[in-house]
Formats: sequence, C-alpha cells, structure tokens
Amino acid sequence: MYIKVLNFNLGGGARLSLSCPHCGHQGTFEPLQNITDVNVGHLWLGQRKCPNPQCYGHLFCIYEGNGNVLRSYPALRIDFDPKNIPERIAKTLAEALVCHAEQCFVASAIMIRRTLEELCEDKKAQGDTLKERLQSLRSAVVLPNELFVAMDELRLLGNDAAHIEAKTYNSIGREEIEAGISLTKEILKAVYQLDDLVKKLQALKNQ
Ligand SMILES: [Zn+2]
Repeated sequence: MYIKVLNFNLGGGARLSLSCPHCGHQGTFEPLQNITDVNVGHLWLGQRKCPNPQCYGHLFCIYEGNGNVLRSYPALRIDFDPKNIPERIAKTLAEALVCHAEQCFVASAIMIRRTLEELCEDKKAQGDTLKERLQSLRSAVVLPNELFVAMDELRLLGNDAAHIEAKTYNSIGREEIEAGISLTKEILKAVYQLDDLVKKLQALKNQ
C-alpha cells in the first residue's frame, strides 16, 4: 500500500505519506491551512497538499481513527507515456489505468483486451476472432516471442472478465491487472516507441 499515516492526533490533521497523483512524487502531505479534518463516525475526512513546489496538487483523504488511510482522491494512477502511440490505443489503455486506480479490476481487464483489439486494427491484423487476429499480427510486427505469448495471456484475462463462463484465471484482482498493464505497456513500447528511442540515441552520435 502506498499510503501510511506518519502521525495522528485526536483532532485529525495527520501528516500523510502519499504518492502524488498529479506529479507522481512521494512526499509528506500536510493539511491545508485553516481547514480542519471532519470526523464522521470512526473516519476522518481531510484535504492535503502535495509538498512539491512545482505541483502543490490537492488531495482529499479518508482515514480511520486507528491511523489507517482508506482512500485518497484523485486516486493514484500507474504512469504511462503515450508518445508515438496512436490516440485511440493510448485512450483505451488510459481508461484501463483509470479503472485500475478506482479498483475496478474486471473493467480494467476488458479495457486491456480492447487495447489489443485496437492494436490489431491499427496494424491491419485480420481474423474472425482476437486469437486469430493476434496470430496474424505476428507477420505484421516484429516482437520478441514472449510479448506475443503475453498478448495471448491478456486475451484470456479479458475473456474471463467479459464472460462469466470463462474461468482461465482464478480471479481478476490487483495483481493480475498490474501484471497485465505492465505487459501491455511493454507491447506498445516495442511496437511504437523503440524506433523513436533508437533515433534519439543515433542523433547524439558524432557525425
Ligand atoms: Zn504533486
């Protein structure tokens, strides 16, 4: 868990160690001046500010009297660089990341699968089913075999998410989705972003 309470007093106002959803930095978030936390039952509701002077992003936090932080808003999203990735594909993966941040893991699995569908469409990989389209993608893009195996696993995870009767995976939870998102990012990086990095390095060579 990326949230923990550094200290706690009975009037609320705990300093919280958080990862900032706005700038991505980890820091100790202080309460906003003149805004006290609100006590509701055993919960405290408060507002915090990112300590990074380039950010000062704002967060709402919910934490328990025993010092356990339950949620913060906006939720922290896994970072993702959409550079050179076609807009439709980047938008679909971004939606998978939002679902993950909000702990909607089944919805996230469906969006990961859709990201693969979009990739096949962009590369004009043909076939009646996603399985067949992924097979034909092998002749459209050059990737390590492991990434093609990963795509097939992501397809199965998406199947489980979309169809009640499909049960390849025991469950679709945080771990499955975080692994799925990491692999999807690697696939997109290999298909769309590696060329750009190589060109950048080549441009730095002595002519
Ligand atoms: Zn920040």
